[in-house]
Amino acid sequence: MAKVLIIDDSAVMRKIIQRNIMQSGLLVDEFVEAGDGREGLEKATTCNVDLILCDWNMPNMTGIDFVKALRGSGQKNNIPIVMVTTEGSDAKIEEAKNSGANGYVTKPFTPEQLKAKLGNFLQIK
Ligand SMILES: [Mg+2]
Repeated sequence: MAKVLIIDDSAVMRKIIQRNIMQSGLLVDEFVEAGDGREGLEKATTCNVDLILCDWNMPNMTGIDFVKALRGSGQKNNIPIVMVTTEGSDAKIEEAKNSGANGYVTKPFTPEQLKAKLGNFLQIK
């Protein structure tokens, strides 16, 4: 019974990610959505999620600041986080990993790519 938190400032992108996950054969029972890092932090600490997918560029609190804030917080700080972003440079990927992200997917992605990158964290049909 996996519950996944999707943090992205684009509502359309949140739906695209959900649709691709469902098409990929990854088993998810419930999605929780947040529109920025601040809202994401609140949901990550209260909604009992198993995996967090997080955009980089967002208002109020960016994805990288979200990763740092959750990892530095005393609660729920070991939930796996995979960045899903258009930021694909080696420096950004390195920064995300050094800040505590567990994986990295660049947009645009296919269901197969999502399955490959998220298969470590979710069960597959
Ligand atoms: Mg964005």
